[in-house]
Amino acid sequence: MSDKVKIVVANGDGIGPEIMDATLRILDAAGAPLDIATIEIGEKVYKQGVSAGIQADAWDLLRDRKVFLKAPITTPQGGGYKSLNVTTRKTLGLYANVRPCQSFHPYIVTRHPSMNLVIIRENEEDLYAGIEHQQTAEVVQCLKLISRPGCEKIVRYAFEYARAYGRKKVTCMTKDNIMKMSDGLFHRVFDEIGKEYPDINQEHWIIDIGSALIADTPERFDVIVTLNLYGDIISDIAAQVAGSVGLGGSANIGDQCAMFEAIHGSAPTIAGQNIANPSGLLNAAIMMLVHVNLPEVAAKINNAWLCTLEDGIHTADIFKMHVSEKKVGTREFADAVIERMGKLPKHFAPVSYSDAPKARVTEKQTVHQTKAKELIGIDLFLDWSNGAAQELGDRLAQVPQDGLKLLTITNRGVKAWPDDIPGKSFTDHWCCRFTRKDESAAVTKAQLMQLMQEVTDAGYDIVKTENLYYFDGVRGYSLGQGE
Ligand code: NAD
Repeated sequence: MSDKVKIVVANGDGIGPEIMDATLRILDAAGAPLDIATIEIGEKVYKQGVSAGIQADAWDLLRDRKVFLKAPITTPQGGGYKSLNVTTRKTLGLYANVRPCQSFHPYIVTRHPSMNLVIIRENEEDLYAGIEHQQTAEVVQCLKLISRPGCEKIVRYAFEYARAYGRKKVTCMTKDNIMKMSDGLFHRVFDEIGKEYPDINQEHWIIDIGSALIADTPERFDVIVTLNLYGDIISDIAAQVAGSVGLGGSANIGDQCAMFEAIHGSAPTIAGQNIANPSGLLNAAIMMLVHVNLPEVAAKINNAWLCTLEDGIHTADIFKMHVSEKKVGTREFADAVIERMGKLPKHFAPVSYSDAPKARVTEKQTVHQTKAKELIGIDLFLDWSNGAAQELGDRLAQVPQDGLKLLTITNRGVKAWPDDIPGKSFTDHWCCRFTRKDESAAVTKAQLMQLMQEVTDAGYDIVKTENLYYFDGVRGYSLGQGE
């Protein structure tokens, strides 16, 4: 039986085939014991009418082999094509996106010579669940779903990663000053789980100032853990300020499978010209080798690559007069790395992965038993544009309501009734909050159904509802501004 590690490779689009060829040649020269199966993904598959950009049987191969080295692909514009990256992450349960962003000063020009951070981005939840609805003529909604298990998994992964790679600090970034429940949960879980890692320094930044600090003083950060959308944005900022978008690799890690890719896209304008930098994909491949427990091969390639940078052998994107020695193409860059296989860098510290245990996905989960879930009312969202807020409130207050009363009406979160703000312009999307009349009486689902029937019979168009609960006596919904 072969003791080679079975992986799946996709050559991708644009510069994909060139940088994959360069990367695989380097892996081969380093003696990486890999058994490679190749799948077709991307533009060609999209154009065959497969909106996911990947054939159904490729999933079986990916689930079987569990390790995927993927070159960038081109997502055709328009036409209902799905992002293959998002589909792959969700289908294979790749919940952690790991992106190291490091300066290679003085060989790659950057304003932040000592920058060396890793962004760990939640990969499955948040607005990327892609659940969107148009509810009225004027208003569309995108649901931001955050789960406690999802937060726990990514936060634990970030701390485990920090420990495994000898990192000293984990920074959490959220917007919990505004989204107190969703981002607040992420921050709370960070604080809770952080207590299990007293050896790691911990801090939290609001994402807006956090992003500004990454752009300004990235060297202050070590490991950053954040939600999906923020992670997407800050990892591009970090890659850019490291001066090396063409150098960055990333890993997408799940319980069963993992996918490794460059952080950049398929760069169609430079495709087929032998000028693309293969380093991003190569660095992803190095992360893959560590993941499949081939740390010596990973270190060997990494050190040869660092030697190549030190010797000033640079592709066009990183070539600088007076810094670089020789401008080379994709193939020649790969040849230069292969020539230096077995050598150690002189300026950079040689890399060793042998002592780094893989960041583990812990099975551990905090058990939270909610004792009491108490239904106390409902928000009815109406599509309505027939008059002033005062009129809507006064009319709804007249609708028969067994055990419930109309408490407030808000419009995009701003209080509209009672006490409308004069001169405020509203949309056609109204949130009418009904809560129990008697604080001590429980509300039943039957009462909510009856209310909805009465409101519908009175001629109103209910486009969405949200039940209002207390969990263990704590309010489980946000208040409208001014409520
Ligand atoms: P891009 O990353 O492909 O290119 C941005 C810029 O960086 C271009 O100027 C390009 O020439 C340069 N560049 C990128 N990689 C380089 C490399 N290895 N060497 C030298 N220069 C490099 O981003 P884009 O132009 O916005 O997107 C092009 C296509 O890639 C789009 O279809 C997009 O959907 C897709 N894309 C795919 C992925 C992926 O598969 N993971 C990620 C991002 C974008």
